[in-house]
Amino acid sequence: MVPVIALVGRPNVGKSTLFNRLTKTRDAIVAEYAGLTRDRQYGEAKWQGRTYIVIDTGGISGDEEGIDAKMAEQSLQAIEEADAVLFMVDSRAGMTAADQLIAEHLRKRNKRSFLVANKVDTVDPDIARAEFSPLGLGDALPIAAAHGRGINAMLEDALSIFPRDDEGEEGEGETEIVAEGEEPKRVPGPSEKDGIKIAIIGRPNVGKSTLVNRMLGEERVIVYDQAGTTRDSIYIPFERDEEKYTLIDTAGVRRRGKIFEAVEKFSVVKTLQAIQDANVVIFVMDAREGVVEHDLNLLGFVLETGRALVIALNKWDGMEPGQRDYVKTELQRRLMFADFADIHFISALHGTGVGHLYKSVQAAFQSAVTRWPTSRLTRILEDAVQEHQPPLVNGRRIKLRYAHLGGANPPLIVIHGNQVEAVPKAYTRYLENTYRRVLKLVGTPIRIEYKGGE
Ligand code: GDP
Ligand code: GDP
Repeated sequence: MVPVIALVGRPNVGKSTLFNRLTKTRDAIVAEYAGLTRDRQYGEAKWQGRTYIVIDTGGISGDEEGIDAKMAEQSLQAIEEADAVLFMVDSRAGMTAADQLIAEHLRKRNKRSFLVANKVDTVDPDIARAEFSPLGLGDALPIAAAHGRGINAMLEDALSIFPRDDEGEEGEGETEIVAEGEEPKRVPGPSEKDGIKIAIIGRPNVGKSTLVNRMLGEERVIVYDQAGTTRDSIYIPFERDEEKYTLIDTAGVRRRGKIFEAVEKFSVVKTLQAIQDANVVIFVMDAREGVVEHDLNLLGFVLETGRALVIALNKWDGMEPGQRDYVKTELQRRLMFADFADIHFISALHGTGVGHLYKSVQAAFQSAVTRWPTSRLTRILEDAVQEHQPPLVNGRRIKLRYAHLGGANPPLIVIHGNQVEAVPKAYTRYLENTYRRVLKLVGTPIRIEYKGGE
């Protein structure tokens, strides 16, 4: 499971500044769902081979009233959801009563916490360290979030306790060279023994638990004894047509005799972790509401992670023909950025179209994990270049020499050549489209990376 780090502290200590720096330009998931306030932001961040989720919180000021109280409550909830807390204080402002209040709370909750003194560009870092030692959380890690100072050392401390992703390790060395004309050999992905991991994702009330029930109700569920916690999703292995799957249920479905019922409320952390951990995401939307901002927000996160994707437009039952046409036009317009994904129109309630999802899940998974041999990828590159040359840069032509597979789920195609830093975005898109078409990839994004100097 991807670790979750919460940024906690008084308002104005620099949490959002640090959040933006850690998550770079990646889109934040803004939790505006019913029951959550606007003040929590979630983002994916990567540091030295580790992926983690960052939660930004509104802040705890100590004398909460009205909207502030809500904000503080959200911060406390974020602490509960997190594996570790970066407790930020403001070196310029010095220690305050609110800092002491938060420190006490963290000590009481026994949360793994790191004291971070921000804005050390304005004071001597040694003074900042001494200033906050009465908080009893050890030496403060001095940073200047606005200037990127001290961030590496801070992450070193905060993230070293979590395992590295194994993602980055597969790839290069494992790619097999297959003779011309031979079929590419498919090596099982890391989790394929347990079947394809499917996460059912979507906003509250789009029909996730109904879909989970429908899928599990029709199939052989192998074990079902995990007691889910508020924090963790439930993993449910099952079989269908002799294929193995594991369903990652974020809706918190529980078995009651023969019936599954949902008991948990929507949780952003669970959702983001499930996406990270899945091979294929079934993204559920409510056809009656069309495509709304939160769908796009969540879907953007799925695309960031590179997971294979199948889209399910649920509640298709009983919709007027005119309404259906409208939704279809909307989809085309607003989901262009995910146009590689199959779209299904289903009714989880009646079961219509649910069985067809599996074909798309299988196809997306195969596309995402097939190990294409270097010879094949290089041949496609050569043909593409022949068809359409990369541009001249300073009078010299960009040379793209060969390509190999650097990773799976999503497929990462590493292209070696000269002056690769000058390859225009449009040309990369052209190569992407060519690979997609020739390899007949469906349901998965592709990543292209360049390596120069050869
Ligand atoms: P939040 O309320 O905790 O999310 O705080 P913000 O990230 O909004 O920052 C509050 C103010 O502190 C803003 O004016 C930031 O520009 C400023 N700030 C953040 N980080 C630093 C820093 O490292 N040094 C200085 N001098 N100012 C900073
Ligand atoms: P979740 O919050 O995403 O897990 O959504 P639920 O599965 O709890 O469904 C929310 C509501 O939508 C419930 O009242 C369901 O009965 C209803 N619902 C779910 N799927 C369908 C469907 O395919 N058609 C119709 N008409 N209603 C549905």
